[in-house]
This record gives sequence, structure tokens and C-alpha cells, in this order.
Amino acid sequence: MTEPDTAPARLAYVRAALAKAERAAGRPAGDVTLVAVSKTFDADEIAPVLDAGQRAFGENRVQEAKAKWPGLKERYDGVELHLIGPLQSNKAAEAVALFDVIESVDRPKIAEALAKEMAAQGRSPRLFVQVNIGSEPQKAGVAPEEADAFLARCRDDLGLTIEGLMCIPPADEPPAPFFALLDRIAARNGLAGRSMGMSADFADAVPFGATHVRVGSAIFGTRPKA
Ligand SMILES: *Cc1c(COP(=O)(O)O)cnc(C)c1O
Repeated sequence: MTEPDTAPARLAYVRAALAKAERAAGRPAGDVTLVAVSKTFDADEIAPVLDAGQRAFGENRVQEAKAKWPGLKERYDGVELHLIGPLQSNKAAEAVALFDVIESVDRPKIAEALAKEMAAQGRSPRLFVQVNIGSEPQKAGVAPEEADAFLARCRDDLGLTIEGLMCIPPADEPPAPFFALLDRIAARNGLAGRSMGMSADFADAVPFGATHVRVGSAIFGTRPKA
């Protein structure tokens, strides 16, 4: 089968593959939320995907999202915007104002800035803690062995409700052991959410309990190199 060549057609293809993975894993249809990662694509390219019914989207930069999404949110009801990239504390206010889910909580300073902004704005985006699941020096995220303590600190010291964990496994290794590890850390901390799986491996994340998969290029096409 040749690859479809429009974003709505590729979206349908990804949705079908996700539904198949849910069935294979014995999970109910629609159990996994597809987050369409629209970073680098402009509003004109995102609109057809919204027209096709997609509502959860991921962006990795606060400034870029701020330029695109307020207008799209006005035109389309029910958008759920996820921040999936690293957050600086001086952008916490903008992030709390714009995003519905922040998946990249990864250090005490950010957790503190978010807690403060959420109180100030009276807005509570859902929060995920990013875990550096392969312990890679170049990657963001809490180290796996520090995740329990960080989660306790978010909960007990800052009063934050953490919904789940997010990870990006190492690019050059089979992802399954990393998905399994994220699942174990989430389970022992009583967290329901697991954001794991991208274009290349979202179907593999489903049997390990992914609740959210973040799929960019398989929907929008190849990104220009950032
Ligand atoms: C870009 C990005 C994705 C999507 O990557 P694809 O391989 O294009 O699906 C998912 N998660 C994060 C954190 C990203 O930055």
C-alpha cells in the first residue's frame, strides 16, 4: 500500500493503525488518545486536520504555539493543546494560559513556576512529568531513579496533581523495554497517564499501556530540519 499524500488521509491511516493496535492489545476502541504533533506546521496546514475531526494537538515551543493556536482555538471547538517540549520558567505564565496539558514537567524549578502560575491564573492544565527513560545526557526529563522522589515533591510540597508520565525512548534502540519501564514507574506511583509512542513506534506503545501517543510526521509529513 502506498502512503497517502495529504494530512487528513495520513490521519485516517494512523487512526486505523492505532485502532488495530488497541484491538490486538485487547483494549477498548478509543482507549488511546492520539495527539497530533503539529510543530513546524502552520495554521493553514493544521486546519484540514481539525476539519477531519482531530482535536488533541502537540506543540514543542510556547512562542510558536502562541502564534498559531489562539486563532485556531477560536475557529474550532474542543481543541486540547499539549505542550510536549522543554519549558523555561520565564514562559510558565504563557504556557499555563495557552496549554490544556503540559507534558514536560521535568524539574523542581518548573514545577514551582507552574504551581505559582496556576494559582495566580486560576487555570489548571493537566500535568505529566517527563522521564528521561533512557538516561541520555542530551535529553530532558527526570532520571528514572529520581522519578518517585520528584513526583512526591510535586504532590506533597507543591500540591500539584500529576496525571501521568511522558517519555521519548532512545532513537537507536528497540523501544519496548523503555515503554515497559515507564509503565512500571507510573504504576508504582499510582498514575493513570502514559504518554509514549511517536510516528515510528506508536503501535508498539499500546500493549504497554500508552494512554497518549504523540504522532507528528506520520500525519503532517516530513518536517523541515529544525
Ligand atoms: C516531535 C515530537 C514528537 C513527534 O515526532 P514524530 O516522530 O514526528 O511523530 C513526539 N513527541 C515529542 C516530544 C516531540 O518533540
